[in-house]
This record gives sequence, structure tokens and C-alpha cells, in this order.
Amino acid sequence: MGQAIFMTGTGTEIGKTVVTSIVALALERLGMSVSVLKPVQTGLAEDGVSFAEQYWYERVAKLSASEGMYYMEPAMSPHLAAKLTGTSIEPERVAERLEWLKQRYDVVLVEGAGGLAVPWCERDGRFYMTSDFLRDYQLPAILVSLSSLGAIHHAVTTAAYADAQGIRLLGLMFNQFQEQEIIHQNNVETIAALLRLPVLAVVPLLPAVSRRELETLAQHWIEQGKAKQCWRCLALAYSYEQLEQWDKQYVWHPFTQMKQYAKERPLIIERGQGSYLYDVDGNRYLDGYASLWVNVHGHNDPELNAALREQLEKIAHSTLLGSANVPSILLAKRLLEYWPHMSKVFYSDTGAAAVEIALKIAYQYWKNIDPVQYATKNKFVSLKEAYHGDTVGAVSVGGMETFHRIFAPLLFERIEVPSPYVYRMDEYGSEQEIVGYCLRELERVLEEQHDQIAAVVIEPLVQGAAGIIVHPRGFLKGVERLCRRYGVLFICDEVAVGFGRTGTMFACEQEEVKPDLVCLGKGITGGYLPLAATLVTEEIYAAFLGDVDEDKTFYHGHTYTGNQLTCSVALKNIELIETRGLIDSVKRKARRLAEWLDRLYDIPIVGDIRQKGLMCGIEIVKDRRTKEVFPRAAMVEHRIILEARRRGLVIRPLGPVLTFIPVLSMSEDEMAEAVRILFDSIACLYDQVQAELV
Ligand code: PLP
Repeated sequence: MGQAIFMTGTGTEIGKTVVTSIVALALERLGMSVSVLKPVQTGLAEDGVSFAEQYWYERVAKLSASEGMYYMEPAMSPHLAAKLTGTSIEPERVAERLEWLKQRYDVVLVEGAGGLAVPWCERDGRFYMTSDFLRDYQLPAILVSLSSLGAIHHAVTTAAYADAQGIRLLGLMFNQFQEQEIIHQNNVETIAALLRLPVLAVVPLLPAVSRRELETLAQHWIEQGKAKQCWRCLALAYSYEQLEQWDKQYVWHPFTQMKQYAKERPLIIERGQGSYLYDVDGNRYLDGYASLWVNVHGHNDPELNAALREQLEKIAHSTLLGSANVPSILLAKRLLEYWPHMSKVFYSDTGAAAVEIALKIAYQYWKNIDPVQYATKNKFVSLKEAYHGDTVGAVSVGGMETFHRIFAPLLFERIEVPSPYVYRMDEYGSEQEIVGYCLRELERVLEEQHDQIAAVVIEPLVQGAAGIIVHPRGFLKGVERLCRRYGVLFICDEVAVGFGRTGTMFACEQEEVKPDLVCLGKGITGGYLPLAATLVTEEIYAAFLGDVDEDKTFYHGHTYTGNQLTCSVALKNIELIETRGLIDSVKRKARRLAEWLDRLYDIPIVGDIRQKGLMCGIEIVKDRRTKEVFPRAAMVEHRIILEARRRGLVIRPLGPVLTFIPVLSMSEDEMAEAVRILFDSIACLYDQVQAELV
């Protein structure tokens, strides 16, 4: 389906037809199929026989496809010319023709007659104007203006009228009839500034017009980069400048200090392909954060797209409250194949919700079994620096000072136990000694308080948000054993680590642990749509069964629980993980990545490199010996991230840790390139920091 764009002018006789021809020729040269439609034409051409614009498009510009609809000989307003010639202008017919052309061409340029406030005909006792047509059929427009004396007023009043009529102007094109350069130059700049629209073309005064001349201008326009800018405007319908302004005006970004954000040039993504993200200016970036740790098969995957479309043709959503749906049934069955010791899937839509649900189930489980005996089993244990999401329950079991401190008075009670953060626990000895210490601390808590503890919650193998803290082997298994020994539930939050991220489908596989509850999210849909799930064992599920008046029901649900689109894309995601051999490839790539990352130690501010599968953290330190980090205000990590972006890689920092969490399907070559950029960006900041110290 092509894009339609309306070429309007600030008045008549300003050269819309010339400008439209150049745009059409340039876009054709860029490989697009272009058609020009002139719905309403009045006045004859110089030959006195053929109609003016049609004559031009066919005989002068020699465009491959142009057509007109309503031709009227008198050179006057369409409504009057129509009356005098007995013509009935029907906007619906124009819209039909436009649709037909859009089906066949990439771009349809629709040239208006004069400006926007031009009456086509009378309808229901009022004039039907060009502007009505644009509004009724949602056509964005490019405004063609002269650059001569008086142009500012005409352009500004046209734009104000367009705005009042709900018509979107994409950009400006100037036709330079002006003899005085200073007026021309200044008008272009002034109009663009007043209207805050991009200047997409300035067409010089032509002594005589021929196809050759138009082609030369089209080529020049392409070389200036303006044709591409114009095409992006057409495709996106909004310029970067406009989007940036609205983004800063209307959007509050998560985990972002907006005062700082306001000072920076935002990255505005328009599309994605494979391992790359593309911004609205057409620049591409390797997706080194897998679009927040979710993307599995790359962006714009044809098979995931098809699965989604196929489901969309059937239904997008119906509720799971009191009814079932096909994809959610199939997905639950499929997920449980990976977790044979579990028996039920409870759906939600974000990782935090999956955790919230696990906590509520764990709490209610004990009450459902025996409200008297387990009356005090209300507390949860989690690790230092734990992160399980941002809803109040999930924050309650979180242990990250920066994120969670402010909410402390809102939260329920949590018991914190140490986590094996090997890099910063030198005083505790070797890895295994650190694990031993952490497990002893957990055991001490469980021994003393198990009758008050509902569950232990843990991110298995890797604490992601804490800065990719990779737990040494044996820690996870040790936690499971202690939970069993002291009769508390064991919740594994696989939101970040699930679906291949750590080199196995799920992290728990690596230590053969069997949690009572599991939380899934992020990669579950391959990075396409928000979906999460909480899996429970039969023993837990059974505790919620009872008569309707027994109050054992789990009173929890979200509007989009079990949504069909999300579940169908998740099903396809899992199928593709298997058929494409993704897990083996992650293992293989992880080994190569480890070798490449090791080179980063050549830069003195790299303190520690941690990796599990395709989840990597690079801790930046001011002093390698003392492990002191840079002051927050220096924003060293943020500057590295901006440097990497400039070089074509997007990654994110977590405090002093740079995270590299690529799209799982990223090729080895792409990953090598990403590490090269990472190296150069850190090295560049190292040089800058050294210079600042001098
Ligand atoms: N649990 C873990 C381990 C996470 O890493 C995250 C997010 O990063 C969450 C839960 C929260 O997931 P969401 O952001 O989808 O709510």
C-alpha cells in the first residue's frame, strides 16, 4: 500500500506543478513507483486545447504515470467552472481513485487546484473545500510557497488554516520566483522558523522548462540529501524535529531524569531489521540491549510477523475472565513442556506483574492451607541488590538502593540476604567461600524465622538490573535446598534470564532446580508484545481449590490476561527457538563473545567483565586497584553510551556497569562489530577522562 501526499500551495500560480514534477522524478530515481493525480483541473494550456497541468505532466515532465479527473475549460475556481460546464465534482470518486492508485504505486502525489480554501462544489447547503477532502481522507500535505515578497503572510495564514481544519503539514517547498536573493533567502528561513516545518526543497528560477532541466534539478535534489528527507517525511508523515519537540513536550520516559533528557538529542526509532534499529533519519544501530532484553530472533522477523497477522485476522483480544481462547491454551501447554514438574500457567502482561502474582499466590497459599497454623508466614526473603520490577509488591522484594529507597514507607516487610557479588567481596575469599558465606547467612535467617517467611525470591544465575551479577555455580542449588529444608516456597524470577538468554532455554536448567513458582516475561514473545506468565506446581494450585463460599479463589486478574495476539506470537517464538537451533547458537556465540570481551581489559577503566550466555556487564571503575567508581555527576558511563550510539551501537548503563545484552540472533560478525564499537567508545572516554584530570 503506497503513501498519498497532497501538494498544496499558498495560492494559485506559484509553481506547484513544477515542484511536484521534480519530486516525482526524484522519487522515481530513488526506485519508487510514483503516480501524480490532479483531481480537479481548470484552464487550458498554452496550446489552447489541452488542459494545463495534464499537458505539463505528460508532455513536458513526461512522467510515467499521471492522470486527471475533472477537466474544465474556464480558468476559475472549481465550483464555478463546474457550474458553468455542468460538471458534478464528487469527492468520493476522487477518494476511490486515490485508493486505487495507492494500491499500485509507492507514492501518489495529489496536486490541488490553488490553495486549501478552494471550493470544489456545494454540499448540504455549504461549500465542500479542498481542505474538507484532506480532512475527510486524512491526507497529509506539503506546502509549496513562493519565496517572494508577501510569501510570509500567505504561508503563515495557510498553515493556520490547515491547523484549524485538522490538516497535517509535513514540510515546505519553495519555488524561487524571487529576483532579490536577500528576500528569497530570508523568506525561506523565516517561514520555516515560524511554521517549525522542515524545508524539503528550494527550486531555483528556471529560464525555460524542459524534462532535461527537471531531471537535473531532481538529481541535484537527491544529491543534497533532500529527496531522502522528503521521502522520510512521506513515509513517516512527521519530521525528526517535529517528533523531538512533541516527545519532549508530551512523553515522560521511564527510569529517566527528564531534565537531563531535555538537553539531549533523543534517539527516535522508526523501524528495525534483524539486529539493527533504524532512527527516523535513517541511521542504523546494532541493538545491543535487545530492546530491553526482549528481542530473540531480530526485528521484523517474517515468521513472527506472519503469526501475528494470522491471529489478527481471527481476533485480537477476548477476555480470560470466564472464558478461554485458543492461543492461551496452546501456549500454556507448550510452556509446561519445559517445566514438567509444574502444572498451571497464570498470565499477565509485564514481568513485574508476574512477580506480583507469584508473591500473592505464595502468601495466599499458606493461608489457604491453614490460616491459623500459617498466620504469621507473611514475609519474603530476597537478595541484596535484587530487582523484580516496579510495581509496589515487586519493589517490596527489591533491594536496589537507588530505585527502591524512596518507596520504603509503602512497602511490605522483606528480609535481605547477601548475594554472591564476587567482584566486590574480596574479603570473603574465593568464589566458593563467598557462596558458602551467602548460603550460611540465608540459612541463619531461615532457621530463625521460617515460620514467618512465605517464600524466597531469586533471579536465578544472574542478577540483571543490579549490574549483571553472575552467581557462582552452586549458589542457586544451595538456595533451593535451604528452601526445602526450612519449608518456605522457592520463587524463581526468570523474567530476564528466560528464553535462551543465559545459554539454556531457562536458567534453572543449569542447576537442575525445581522452583515452586516461576515468573516469565521479556523474551517470551520474542520481543514483540507485552506478555508475562507465572507458573505454579500442582501442589500450590491445589491449595486454591475449594467451594465457592470457601474464599480460596485467587482474586487477581488483568484486563489483557491471556491476550490472543501476545500468546500466538509467543507460541511462534518458542517454535522458532527450537527449529532455528537458537540455544546451541547462543552457546557457541557466547564462547566467542567471551574471547572478544576479554580485550576490553586493555583499557584501564574496565574493572570487571561478567558474562552468562549473551548477558554481559562491564563494570567501569576510576581506580582498578581500589575498585572505586566515578562520581555519578561525571556521567562517565552515560557518555560512553552516547559515544557508542554515535558509532552505531545502542547499549545501556546500570550504575557503573555497561550492559551488553544483544538480540539473541545477532550474528558473530555483528557481535564482533559491537564489541569493536564498545572498545573504541570506552577507550575514547578513557582518553577524555585522562585529559580532564590534567
Ligand atoms: N524481574 C526481573 C529479573 C527483571 O529483570 C525485570 C525487568 O528488567 C522484571 C522482573 C520486571 O519486568 P517488567 O519490566 O516487564 O515489568
